[in-house]
Amino acid sequence: MRAETLAIHAGNLYDISTKDVTPPINLSTTFLRNEEGGYSGGHMYSRLSNPNRSALEKIVAELEKGADACALSSGNTAGMTVFQALKPGSHIIAPDDMYWGFKKQLLTIFADTLSIDFVDLNDFEEINRHIKENTVMIWTETPSNPLLKITDISAISAICKEKGLILACDSTFASPSLQNPISLGADIVMHSSTKYIGGHSDVLGGILITAEKNELWEKIRNIQEVGGAVPSPFDCYLLVRSIKTLAYRMRGHCENGMALAHYLQNHPAIETVYYPGLSSHSGHDIAKKQMRGFGGMLSILVKGGSDEARRVVNQVKLFAQATSLGGVESLIEHRASIEGPTTTTPPNLIRISAGLEHIDDLIADLNQALAYQNK
Ligand SMILES: *Cc1c(COP(=O)(O)O)cnc(C)c1O
Repeated sequence: MRAETLAIHAGNLYDISTKDVTPPINLSTTFLRNEEGGYSGGHMYSRLSNPNRSALEKIVAELEKGADACALSSGNTAGMTVFQALKPGSHIIAPDDMYWGFKKQLLTIFADTLSIDFVDLNDFEEINRHIKENTVMIWTETPSNPLLKITDISAISAICKEKGLILACDSTFASPSLQNPISLGADIVMHSSTKYIGGHSDVLGGILITAEKNELWEKIRNIQEVGGAVPSPFDCYLLVRSIKTLAYRMRGHCENGMALAHYLQNHPAIETVYYPGLSSHSGHDIAKKQMRGFGGMLSILVKGGSDEARRVVNQVKLFAQATSLGGVESLIEHRASIEGPTTTTPPNLIRISAGLEHIDDLIADLNQALAYQNK
């Protein structure tokens, strides 16, 4: 079955006596044992598994063409679970433009247990130069946050295969609809399901998908079950519900993202537009090769500095000035000020999450905000 069909049907796992077309929310934390002491319903205790989480994991594993998936309480938890599964003393290579929350995890929570080099993953020589005896993993993020850098997953996979390294990919900005890193050679895929998978800015979640059920995956599953940072049945239900429309939402996000990028590219108050769908973008050719659409995320540099950028985000009326992304409503954000004093994000950078409003209304709003800018 194709993605649109799987998204709607792959989660209908169980036989329900009331014959519900839509599976219910199973709130029970514990499940009946049979006379032999086993669990004929397939679930024992809801930290270990429950029907709503199993449905979510099954759908996402199928959409990502993986062998299994592991749902966690947030995207940050999903990343942390992978880092926790690595042997202390391991070295990892991470992207220079990495989701700042993961950078912070690596530099604080894992400061004493892992060593990290942040490298430009488009520079293969540089990657090879950083591979050491104890290097175990290359973590990629494509498109990246907030510079929309594109990493060639197949090329990095070739390096990983040659050197025996794990390849992990934060594919949040692409969603399972636009890119499937496992098909390109990744071992582990990670999503913040808070973003496009959830799609309505009302549920926090993260999910990991594996290419194979191997030793690393057993460790990850153990951290989920025994560590216990799991999403609630209601959160899983919401995500399963959202995934049914994911492919169609992504088409709208891509369409609006592209239209906004073209509009902004030609605006005199804008210095640069970072959007992988533009032929001027450095990662455009790779994005075209490995993605089925360019997504709804873009960043712009406003002419001037931090003040000019902040004036734009304060002047829009329809875009919500808020962090996060991937929801039906368009968001706009001055990025450096949320990342704090150690940020490397340019002070005049604004990140936009193109929602699903009518494009004319979005452009009209930016137009009035940027016109004010020119005065
Ligand atoms: C939001 C985000 C995360 C973290 O996910 P949370 O659900 O907020 O914990 C990780 N990576 C990327 C690319 C993100 O955008």
